[in-house]
Amino acid sequence: MYSMELVVERGQARCPRCVAVADYAFVELGPELLRYEVSCHGCGERYREKLGPVAPPVGVVATAEVWPPVPAPAAVPVGERLQAWADAARGAAIALWHRGNTWAAALLDRIPRDAESKAG
Ligand SMILES: [Zn+2]
Repeated sequence: MYSMELVVERGQARCPRCVAVADYAFVELGPELLRYEVSCHGCGERYREKLGPVAPPVGVVATAEVWPPVPAPAAVPVGERLQAWADAARGAAIALWHRGNTWAAALLDRIPRDAESKAG
């Protein structure tokens, strides 16, 4: 039924693999389902992630709290609701990305650097 894929937004983002500037796109898969794609020309990474108000897979704790609430089904035109949802999804993706970096930094911090920091 929702087989039509429509690119709703394109832009530039960081490659999740090599952190180079890469192309991203949000592809609409259905009324409340988007696919976030990153295509990196540097390393050839093709990152894909489905974004939608569905239960996160078991074990993925981080996505649950940053996922934006689904817009209220008010008397707002569908186009505007979709746009608001896409904006929220984009914000969530960015938040996830920042969180990923913070998490990675925190993890890096916990890795002992025996040569440098034991003296202080
Ligand atoms: Zn890359």
